[in-house]
Amino acid sequence: MNTVEYIRDQLPRGELLCQLSEEASELSKAALKLRRAEDGTNPTPVSVEEAEENLLEEIGDILNALEVLDIDFFGVYSDGARLKKMRRWSERLEEAAEKKELAQLEADLEEDPLLDPYPF
Ligand SMILES: [Mg+2]
Repeated sequence: MNTVEYIRDQLPRGELLCQLSEEASELSKAALKLRRAEDGTNPTPVSVEEAEENLLEEIGDILNALEVLDIDFFGVYSDGARLKKMRRWSERLEEAAEKKELAQLEADLEEDPLLDPYPF
């Protein structure tokens, strides 16, 4: 029996799912800490390098939990639904950028003295 099989044998699936959930929460906190370290608006004693290390550690913890749960996640990399979501994400960003650009153009036009209907 290898290490993964031993852990799987010792804990019920519900506990393993709790472990995955706990690690997902820790990953979330690590991402927020890295954001805070990179941003600098709300200073933290944690350096960017430490925060990145912690993020990778939590990703590893999640991979361990998935492996013990015997969840085959490799298919996700080439999954059409994942790729579709990535495209949708990009499209939303493009739409937001276009709206922002349009709003800026409208604001610039309002301030353009040449377009003032009552210049005098
Ligand atoms: Mg962890």
